[in-house]
Amino acid sequence: MHIVIVDSSRVILKVVAGMLEPRGHVVTQFTDSAEALAYVTDNPRVRALITSLEVRPIGGLELCWSARLLAEASRPLSIIVMSSVRNARNLSEALDSGADDFIDKPPGAEELQARLRAAERLTSLQSELIRLAETDPLTGLLNRRAFLLRSREAAGRAGSFGRLSAVLLDIDHFKRINDEYGHDVGDTAIKAVTGLIAQEGIAGRLGGEEFALVLPGRNLTEAEAAANRLRLNAADLRIRSPRGPVRLTCSFGVSEWGEGETVEGLLKRADIALYEAKNGGRNRVVSATNELVLARAG
Ligand code: GH3
Ligand code: MG
Ligand code: MG
Repeated sequence: MHIVIVDSSRVILKVVAGMLEPRGHVVTQFTDSAEALAYVTDNPRVRALITSLEVRPIGGLELCWSARLLAEASRPLSIIVMSSVRNARNLSEALDSGADDFIDKPPGAEELQARLRAAERLTSLQSELIRLAETDPLTGLLNRRAFLLRSREAAGRAGSFGRLSAVLLDIDHFKRINDEYGHDVGDTAIKAVTGLIAQEGIAGRLGGEEFALVLPGRNLTEAEAAANRLRLNAADLRIRSPRGPVRLTCSFGVSEWGEGETVEGLLKRADIALYEAKNGGRNRVVSATNELVLARAG
């Protein structure tokens, strides 16, 4: 487990790290609580934070709060407060501030190991629950809810002047693939299209054979280029079936995020463009500009 320890004393840090590192834990030590919080924020692999109450510049209780806020944004993190004064007030304040557990300072090696084993069980379970709640079981892509959440976060990070685009894609005449080759081949086709888009920005499966991408940092022209590349790659796919390789095409709707627009608005415009792409004959990319412009098909 990756563990962050915060204490003003390097001696305490060394003692605690000395108990954990031989057990295979990765330990990062901080005397400065603000630096520790920044590190935990930037490193989602950190699964446990052990902090003393007497730390600076952010006090121990406040550090617990801030770390708990991070963890509530669907991230498994166990927070353990370490104090040389164990009384009811300290304990309840720590737990109310978002800590999961409380140990003596310095902790006994055996007790610390046992508490971390409990923390590991809990965070593993939490992480599995988060994975199940966020992903689509067939493709492993984000489901609609998680996709929207991540996209909103990305839009928030982009700020008012940042670039961000969306691409919606839908397999053409997918029903025919199911009807002619069976549902299993249909599923294989869905997985093959997933393979094309999984590494492109934030990728989600919105419905049966409809996928969405949010591409942070890309403008309309760049998103259009990405969509056209995906369109060609989709047309090159050969889906395995008992009756030989099956081919497919996809249609695309692209939109660029405008100032003050919501992610839902951005996707709605991409959806209208996708509808145009279907009406225009499929296997094409249509961008949602003021006037819908048809990109070259073929
Ligand atoms: P269009 O070109 O207009 O998109 O036509 P289409 O046939 O692709 O679209 P339509 O929405 O009519 O059909 C989608 C089909 O996808 C209907 C549904 O049975 C099938 N489907 C939905 N989810 C799955 C899935 O998980 N696996 C498989 N194999 N089929 C699915
Ligand atoms: Mg379709
Ligand atoms: Mg569809």
